[in-house]
Amino acid sequence: MFKDITQQKQQEKQLMDLATRDRITGLLNRTVFIEQLNLAINASSSSQPEFCVLIVNLDNFYKINDALGHSYGDRVLKMAAQRLEQTISPNFTLASLGGDEFGILLPPHVFTPLNIFNIKRLCEKLLSELSRTMLLDDLDLCLSASIGAAIYPDNGYDSESILRSADSALQHAKSNGKNTFQIFNRAVKTHSPASLSIENEINRAIVEKEFILYYQPKFNTRTNQICGVEALARWPDGNQEIRSPAQFISVAEANNAIIPLTRVLIEVCCQQIKQWQQKGIKLNGRVALNLSAIHFQRSDLIEDLTNYLQKYQISGDTMELEITESVMMNDPEFALQQMLKLKRLGFTIALDDFGTGHSSLSYLKQFPIDRLKIDRSFVIDIEKSEQDRNITATIIRLAKYLNIDVVAEGVETEAQSYFLHVMGCDVVQGYFFSKPLPCDQLEKFIEQTKVLINHPKSN
Ligand code: C2E
Ligand code: CA
Ligand code: CA
Repeated sequence: MFKDITQQKQQEKQLMDLATRDRITGLLNRTVFIEQLNLAINASSSSQPEFCVLIVNLDNFYKINDALGHSYGDRVLKMAAQRLEQTISPNFTLASLGGDEFGILLPPHVFTPLNIFNIKRLCEKLLSELSRTMLLDDLDLCLSASIGAAIYPDNGYDSESILRSADSALQHAKSNGKNTFQIFNRAVKTHSPASLSIENEINRAIVEKEFILYYQPKFNTRTNQICGVEALARWPDGNQEIRSPAQFISVAEANNAIIPLTRVLIEVCCQQIKQWQQKGIKLNGRVALNLSAIHFQRSDLIEDLTNYLQKYQISGDTMELEITESVMMNDPEFALQQMLKLKRLGFTIALDDFGTGHSSLSYLKQFPIDRLKIDRSFVIDIEKSEQDRNITATIIRLAKYLNIDVVAEGVETEAQSYFLHVMGCDVVQGYFFSKPLPCDQLEKFIEQTKVLINHPKSN
């Protein structure tokens, strides 16, 4: 009788496995994966709205099946499945989506707040695990894979559309030469000729070095002097129109073109600094260059910067690098080492858009940050909102306590500038003082402010 029950249980399990598991890898199957996806959608709340889905597809797997036979191919799939399983956290759902395709669901509570860099890091880790040599029957096999990622709810409101987005990103990764990953991005989404052509255009413009920099002065309201400038990327379209970063930075970030694009800008920046030095033009401060977090997280950033400093014979202490809080959140240890290397080269480091991210001021103590840039969103409401005034005042006070300089961004009115001054922030940047200017206009602006200081208005 006991034997019967055991047998019955075994049969039930077999039936259950048949319905929920993939025959080859033993992983959950596509049906269960979609059920889990729907559960995650239902479980997503306003405080944890986002989650991420990855589709991993082995590159050129058909060749293994063709050359070595299906049973060999099945063993490769099993091994790939094991590697994926060992790489991800047990909270993630891993499934076989059929053939050589795998799905990974990163549940909402894992990525709160959803951090794109965690996703990128994970993709890199998965790719590197899959590309480790596999030894099967004395045969050294080198695999590679491509990964597409999509994020709920940005890239789809139901399981079907999210999977479609992840698949579209995957196809994009494949067409980018395989052995890489792609996070779904609106610019990638439709594969429309328009989005493809902007990517092609960007790549062409990088080769042609079409990108330029505009410079927005920072102003010290106590001394009435310029105290450095921020360099902002611009892209002339050849017809007197100048495209702003909103039109190309995020596209470039989505397909990794941001790295060569930033190299072009680093060169423009160094060349300009050298020219100003030769012309005897004084900025009373550094030229601050924005760095994409993707670039900051690469070790060759140091090499890129050093090369251009050498090429133009300028030193790092002419420049500041603006980064955002996200670079410190993902891998704090790497971020710290990277910052220390940059500081040794003479650069100072500014934390951009401060207040919009998640780091706290006490966290900042651990990093060699020289300057905080208070985000424009606080400045906009400073006249109307007492809360924004309180937050801003606290940031300024604590930053001073930590010996970190403060700049307020997006100052558009005299009143905003006055409030900031009262709170103890004397360095401001914004349209009230000057818009970002092409280099020649900046030179004129510097001349004019000099005149203003030496000959204050007589009325
Ligand atoms: P950001 O670093 O926060 O730069 C400040 C942005 O605010 C600039 O927009 C600037 O033109 C604008 N701005 C300055 N003062 C005012 C003001 O008083 N009112 C208003 N409404 N806006 C003001 P821009 O040049 O369009 O750049 C937008 C963003 O693109 C930058 O934000 C930065 O995140 C990114 N970006 C710009 N240049 C580069 C670059 O060379 N590399 C990278 N990775 N990102 C860049
Ligand atoms: Ca900036
Ligand atoms: Ca900013």
